[in-house]
Amino acid sequence: MFRPSWIEIDRAAIKHNVIEIKKRIPQALMAVVKANAYGHGAVEVAKIALENGATMLGVALLEEAIELREAGIEAPILVMEAQFPETAGVAADHDVTLSVFSADWLREARTHLSDRPLTVHVKVDTGMGRLGLRTRAELDALLEAADDRFVVEGIYTHFATADEPDSQLYYEQQERFGQLMDGLHSRFRYIHTSNSAGAIRMAGEDVPYNLVRVGIAIYGLYPSAEMASFYSFLRPAFTLKSKLMQVKRLEAGQTISYGATYTTTEDEWIGTVPVGYADGWIRKASGFEVDVNGHHCPIVGRVCMDRFMVRLPEELPVGTVVTLIGGPVAIDELATHLETINYEVVCQLTNRLPRRYV
Ligand SMILES: *Cc1c(COP(=O)(O)O)cnc(C)c1O
Repeated sequence: MFRPSWIEIDRAAIKHNVIEIKKRIPQALMAVVKANAYGHGAVEVAKIALENGATMLGVALLEEAIELREAGIEAPILVMEAQFPETAGVAADHDVTLSVFSADWLREARTHLSDRPLTVHVKVDTGMGRLGLRTRAELDALLEAADDRFVVEGIYTHFATADEPDSQLYYEQQERFGQLMDGLHSRFRYIHTSNSAGAIRMAGEDVPYNLVRVGIAIYGLYPSAEMASFYSFLRPAFTLKSKLMQVKRLEAGQTISYGATYTTTEDEWIGTVPVGYADGWIRKASGFEVDVNGHHCPIVGRVCMDRFMVRLPEELPVGTVVTLIGGPVAIDELATHLETINYEVVCQLTNRLPRRYV
């Protein structure tokens, strides 16, 4: 590893978060590690989560599940994104659970299975309007089509507004799921409805659900600003750091970067930092302030593909550590600056940035 820019993942923070979540939530814990564990490293995070109380893993892609299997992880893994029926045999052979929502899918998938049965969870759409069956008739047809080549182990739904404490839709979705499930609870080993936001909200309630799917909270991040008070025990695990590559003094009237959008107004110390939009540090980050040795320093001019420039308060040595995310630079402030959410920030930083575990 040569480049002086890296993502640091604090293992102890992830462990802390998993343990503290487990203490508060009575249901079995599925650690959601899709998208390379929200940029934190799927295999590393999966191991920490499983060692500290999680019993299942959730991913989006079959490839992500196979990566975990190839790393020697044996815990149950649920693929939450839909897969085409042709993938059923590969999934069964890797002992990976798929999400299903139609009888036709099962009939087609059957022709792709070898000897091993396929474990599935039924996905129900109660208000997201994306994947899932919506009616009891569809559910009954699916259960009818599920012969002994399938193990229908679970059923689940997903809330659109669990992170908005005042949302009525959250209760409507619960109601719809309850109606659809009427009389069927004993048919499934796992019944689950909640992501990070939903899990902590229903912690004190008497609900017939026995598994939660927790992603963002494991990483120490809040599902939304409104959920911060519920989750104040979390510790963020993610920092993005780099080092000053060049430091120079520019006199007043000099322009910086493409488009010459920034002009120095006096003699200024300018530092170059080797992280750019090819790393997922997007152009919209211009104007955001990063931390250089305890100083908040604004990004001046446009972010380039591989680097950006900051205005320094004084001459600082080449090699000084720059913190782009973490410590004094809150990820939620960056998300606000970028007009997005913390989920997108950690997912968009590419694998060109090496991950270091501390
Ligand atoms: C990603 C995902 C989760 C995890 O959501 P968080 O808000 O990160 O806890 C849970 N369930 C499903 C279906 C998902 O796709």
